[in-house]
Amino acid sequence: MGYLLKGCAAVVCSANVVLRDQDVLVTGRAIAAIGPGLSQWPLPAGTEVIDAAGWFVYPGLVNTHHHFFQTFVRNRAELDWTKLSVIEWLDRIYPIFARLTEEAFYHATVVALAELIKHGCTTAFDHQYNFPRHAGTRIVDRQFEAAEMFGIRLHAGRGGNTLPKSEGSTIPEEMRETTDEFIADCERLIDAYHDAGPFSMGQVAVAPCQPVNCYKDTFVESVRLARDKGVLLHTHAGEGESPFMQARTGMRTVDYLESIGFCGPDVWYAHCWELSQGELGQMAATGTGVAHCPEPVYLVGAEVTDIPAMQALGLRIGLGVDGTASNDNGNLMHCVHSAYMLQCLTASTRSHPVPEPARFLHYATQGGADVLGRKDIGHLAPGMAADLFAIDTRRLDYVGTRHDPASLIAKVGVGMPVDMTMINGRIVWRDGHFPGLDERDLFRKAEAALHRVMS
Ligand SMILES: [Zn+2]
Repeated sequence: MGYLLKGCAAVVCSANVVLRDQDVLVTGRAIAAIGPGLSQWPLPAGTEVIDAAGWFVYPGLVNTHHHFFQTFVRNRAELDWTKLSVIEWLDRIYPIFARLTEEAFYHATVVALAELIKHGCTTAFDHQYNFPRHAGTRIVDRQFEAAEMFGIRLHAGRGGNTLPKSEGSTIPEEMRETTDEFIADCERLIDAYHDAGPFSMGQVAVAPCQPVNCYKDTFVESVRLARDKGVLLHTHAGEGESPFMQARTGMRTVDYLESIGFCGPDVWYAHCWELSQGELGQMAATGTGVAHCPEPVYLVGAEVTDIPAMQALGLRIGLGVDGTASNDNGNLMHCVHSAYMLQCLTASTRSHPVPEPARFLHYATQGGADVLGRKDIGHLAPGMAADLFAIDTRRLDYVGTRHDPASLIAKVGVGMPVDMTMINGRIVWRDGHFPGLDERDLFRKAEAALHRVMS
């Protein structure tokens, strides 16, 4: 089984390599060839030829930070960031988080994955840190079930919080775990779902939620487990907590994490907007990556993340949507545009120039793949996984933009769902439908699950 995308107007193999008037041949899970006139050669049996005239084909987007469950807690006036302090916001939203059930987590995941796929995302990382005791132990398992239904690659970050409110955290008791419980479930999930092989559809990262809401022991044990199992580590850092960490431990977050060994080429932090130049330099020195989530910066960040400095230092940068409680959409395509625009806003205050628009496409593809430790995704070339999305640019929307496909996503922005998303050689979204799935039915079930926990 395979596909020939015939006569693509452009194939954006990577942010730096754009080929015009090409065919793309996909066989099995991988890209077999990219070149002109492939249809004139004998094609493997069972190859479906797709007319791709006018199409721009891009590598699938890679999301490096999300909280799927928050799709059930968005667009709510009573949670308006601009009218609440962070503490007031946390006091309002955590009791809602603590109400969610296993069914709600599952359907929230369905909603989040659908939005990602419709907008070109082919690999999704989720940071699931909310484990209310009443919701049972199968929340991440159900996420893998939802990902398998859609056919999207899922990297599941098993999060968790261990510090009680009485010792300075913001976590309701219902959501709190012990370090032993957290580590045991990480180990169970790694053994059950982590596939480190090529074209892997499922991986697990050890991802304690935040240093401020965990005992030090939780981070120490996370490092031990992840290195023992050969999986990645992830957490939030530099999102406003550094002064609290300084007061509590005598160290700001980056120093604290380094002192534990929670840094390195197998680690990435979400956010990092409050980090000093020195701290960014420390991350560069250890090879620690960053998931830059631009849209929460508008709502939550006291300052705009210094992407030009990170770029100049050679940090590994991926993009993320973050949870929809601090970004009311979960659309990574949208975030490529907003990430670029956000940097333009602060360009005159920076020591380094804003990276070119195509560089932001790089962060959302190759950069994300690197952050997630994947060598088989992130750009289009023979032998790479067939993860891609396509936009039919024969629309008025694209007149005036078509001369520079690599810059289009960041500089212009793509508002509508893409025309096709392919993951691992399988078409999972095409012409407004999820082949083999009934979106109306998924919608009804998700709405019902939402109303059961939110009404
Ligand atoms: Zn987050």
